[in-house]
Amino acid sequence: MDKTQIITIDGPAGAGKSTLSKNLAQALGWNRLDTGAIYRAVALAAKESGLGPQDAQQVGLLAEKLDLSVKNHKAESRVFIGSRDVTGLIRNLEISALSSIYSSEPRVRAALLELQRRLGARGALVTEGRDMGTVVFPWAKLKFFLVADVGVRAERRYLQLIRKGVSADKASVLANLASRDLSDSSRSAAPLKPAPEALIIDSSNLSLFQVETIMLGKAKEVFGL
Ligand code: C5P
Repeated sequence: MDKTQIITIDGPAGAGKSTLSKNLAQALGWNRLDTGAIYRAVALAAKESGLGPQDAQQVGLLAEKLDLSVKNHKAESRVFIGSRDVTGLIRNLEISALSSIYSSEPRVRAALLELQRRLGARGALVTEGRDMGTVVFPWAKLKFFLVADVGVRAERRYLQLIRKGVSADKASVLANLASRDLSDSSRSAAPLKPAPEALIIDSSNLSLFQVETIMLGKAKEVFGL
């Protein structure tokens, strides 16, 4: 297997990474790995163990021992702790905020590094997160970094939550994104930033379909598809 047959999509929350990585993986017939879901599962496990935002170091210990797995079923990925499917429990504002706090802890990041590489090594891959192109898969042949105005991202994320039946208000969604932006890009361990060779796409004034068309065109060119 060609280990560089990887497309990384990094960027802040709400930039469209999930939808785009799903569609791109489906269009190419490649695997998809959503690494945010892994950080979210750690946050859920920490919460269920009675740990709180002040216990980031202990969360690192917990992450080292946690039996996490991701199973892909068509374009959907489901996250498991042991044999328990926690996919439905990790998409809410509380887990978003906690995962961002714990993800600044180097021990948590170190515990998840090999897991992400192992899960990504099943074949050609589209993966999304914050440090896919810089830290986890620096050898990827094609790297995208998505950006969008925080107001546009908040509106997209709000509509997404409402469609899923999760109760949310716009002001809290915006505040959650702004605080995660700050903590994700200012942390010292694997901060959110584009790899030097990443293609930066600003989707503020583009539909996700337009962005997908750009990405797919680039993938075909780079991988000779
Ligand atoms: O992508 P998503 O919003 O689901 O990620 C949840 C949180 O997990 C992010 O706010 C970020 O702090 C963290 N994360 C990370 N590195 C990744 C993926 C997610 O730090 N590769």
